[in-house]
Amino acid sequence: MNGSVLISGASIAGPALAYWLGRHGFKPTVVELAPALRGGGQAVDFRGETHLTVLERMGLTPDLRRIETGGSPMRFVDERGRTLLHLPAEFAGGEIEVLRGDLARVLYEHSRPHAEYIFGDSITRLTETLSGVRVDFQQGVSRDFDLVIGADGLHSNVRRLAFGPEADYVSHLGYYAATWPLPNDLGLGKGSVGYNAPGRLASVGADHRDPAQAGAFVVFAAPELSYDRNDPEQQKRLIDKAFAGLGWEVPRLLASLRQAPDLYFDSISRADVDTWSTGRVCLVGDAACGATIGGMGTGTAVVAAYVLAGELARAQGDYRAAFTQYEGRLRKYAQGCQAGGDRTGRFLAPGTATGIRLRNTLLSRPLFLNRMLKLGEKISSTVDLPDYPFDTSRVMR
Ligand SMILES: Cc1cc2nc3c(=O)[nH]c(=O)nc-3n(C[C@H](O)[C@H](O)[C@H](O)COP(=O)(O)OP(=O)(O)OC[C@H]3O[C@@H](n4cnc5c(N)ncnc54)[C@H](O)[C@@H]3O)c2cc1C
Repeated sequence: MNGSVLISGASIAGPALAYWLGRHGFKPTVVELAPALRGGGQAVDFRGETHLTVLERMGLTPDLRRIETGGSPMRFVDERGRTLLHLPAEFAGGEIEVLRGDLARVLYEHSRPHAEYIFGDSITRLTETLSGVRVDFQQGVSRDFDLVIGADGLHSNVRRLAFGPEADYVSHLGYYAATWPLPNDLGLGKGSVGYNAPGRLASVGADHRDPAQAGAFVVFAAPELSYDRNDPEQQKRLIDKAFAGLGWEVPRLLASLRQAPDLYFDSISRADVDTWSTGRVCLVGDAACGATIGGMGTGTAVVAAYVLAGELARAQGDYRAAFTQYEGRLRKYAQGCQAGGDRTGRFLAPGTATGIRLRNTLLSRPLFLNRMLKLGEKISSTVDLPDYPFDTSRVMR
């Protein structure tokens, strides 16, 4: 072991892991497919003691407090804009809510002194040798690493190469979600406003920093669709088709979609992997146990990165023991959080008019709403977080 660790993916789990590995004395390299750090996406949140403890131990709390959105209350309206349901800011925003792109940037900056970053490249082959892993890259040069970690999301490339095809690990939950930026022509104030038709949610919220800008967020029910994940124009057509003919502000949102410079589009799915490691390769974040939205994926990714790096440091080179400890500590916790994602599509875009009415009625009751909030906090804090003191002499053996 010389402590070299290749991490695939520079979004949330990847940079968080790079930070901790670097602090523990490893030599992390992060490879990201995109040519630069990816912005985009809407707000993501941290809630409960465990998330906040890890952020505190990373020294990130002040940075995140500076850029937090303050939470976004959400109003569901009918076709004429009359309020049907009001959800308070903490419902979707937890205790710290930040834009996903902002969080990725903070984690990247925080980890940069401790890691090498390579953008615009991707692993094409992983070959285990007696002393490590030989890694071939799209851009041509092969390198050797002690360990390889897949932090490359729900559609993980490392999982496909080391564990098998995506279809064996990812289940479609019957919905798609998309976000894109647009000008705030609706004169929106704080928070977002959403309109439901059966199986569909169209919503829009003002940018918390620049009130001239807004972000659209849509969800629609559909069986698994066949499309090119790298073709935003094709994805725009799928959204257009799903929302065609709806009233409220939907035509305006669809018009903005056609011009949108940036689109995040994904199925609402979950990843289930029997064992998160195989040989010298291990998974973290959404690649291991993700849910597209509503499964506290961001908080879990940050917690998992902390534990994986800590266990690797503690194991003094015995990566098998470290991977086993990491998974033993986190699997149940991560699955508990992930389960919330199974209901997200149906919650945001119930399939029938009756379902929409029922959701609105239930959530208008403060008692029910509070119970849901408390449950989220409890689930996100059910893990024992060890202390992993820094002792860089233990990394190599
Ligand atoms: C652009 C974007 C927008 C998002 N928007 C939202 C949102 O609005 N709401 C929400 O709840 N969640 C959103 N997410 C998901 C959220 O970030 C994750 O659920 C969670 O934070 C866990 O993060 P992760 O790092 O495990 O995975 P992800 O955030 O999915 O990151 C995976 C990273 O791996 C990279 N990657 C993919 N393939 C390769 C490859 N072959 N080689 C190298 N790198 C690769 C991706 O480009 C990405 O940077 C978004 C993710 C992305 C990438």
